[in-house]
Amino acid sequence: MMISLAGKAALITGGSRGIGAAAVKLFAQAGADVVFNYNKAKDAAEQVQQEAGKHGTRVEAFKADVGHHADNKKLVDFAISRLGRLDIVVANAGVWNLEDLPIEKMTEKQWDEMIRVNLKSVYSVIHFSIPQMIKQKSGKIIPISSTAGQRGESFHTHYGASKGAIISFAKGLATELARHNILVNCVAPGWVATDMSNPVINSKAGGKAIVSAIPLRRAGTAEEIAGPILFLASDLANFMTGEVINVNGGAVLCG
Ligand code: NAP
Repeated sequence: MMISLAGKAALITGGSRGIGAAAVKLFAQAGADVVFNYNKAKDAAEQVQQEAGKHGTRVEAFKADVGHHADNKKLVDFAISRLGRLDIVVANAGVWNLEDLPIEKMTEKQWDEMIRVNLKSVYSVIHFSIPQMIKQKSGKIIPISSTAGQRGESFHTHYGASKGAIISFAKGLATELARHNILVNCVAPGWVATDMSNPVINSKAGGKAIVSAIPLRRAGTAEEIAGPILFLASDLANFMTGEVINVNGGAVLCG
């Protein structure tokens, strides 16, 4: 593999399944030590830890609800104490509402929960990570946004709002943290075949509509999102900050 993260310490949120799990495995393969969190999927997390651990680096799982500020403090403290440093944070954990939710039916509780898990979590994990990165005089922060963060998503408007806010948050951080050599870039996936979106992708009507709106005529794989995340985390991206890498088979151009 040409990209190396040898000697780097990474924290990846939502590493038990989907894109996060693929990133944990790819980062370990590239030589990084990795701490990742899971929330509910303990068995899946153990499997990811085992598979990623085959590459010989340190890989550890930690239970945390990233929507809780106190959990993120424990998660970041755990990562630094186990890995001895912190070079890369991938703020990936997130949720999406499978059922369409019209705005007039969206409750305050549903709005708050989406923002808590998808947006507050990104602020919170970064908040606790930055002091260590400032000490080290370098760092890479990679929040995971979405095509929905750029063009919105009808009936999933709170999801789109959370993902759009991640982009403006990342852009502000990029200029704020550049003086510490901390680089902040988003990856924005389109439709990816994971537990999150498989029920729609695999449905007859939903699958057809999705594929017809993607120029490459298919949904992506978790591994195809992990690759660009790895690139941003690597030294190949040392002069990039404040950017959004779209990984969606061309879909964002057509929506
Ligand atoms: P996924 O397969 O559903 O996995 C979500 C991950 O996030 C799991 O590891 C889950 O942990 C974790 N998570 C969820 N809520 C959490 C919480 N409150 N605290 C801690 N961890 C939590 O989803 P995915 O498709 O990989 O999505 C990953 C990211 O990509 C998300 O931010 C998503 O919005 C974004 N994205 C996905 C797509 C897509 O089509 N899949 C498209 C655009 C953007 P547990 O299972 O252990 O609870």
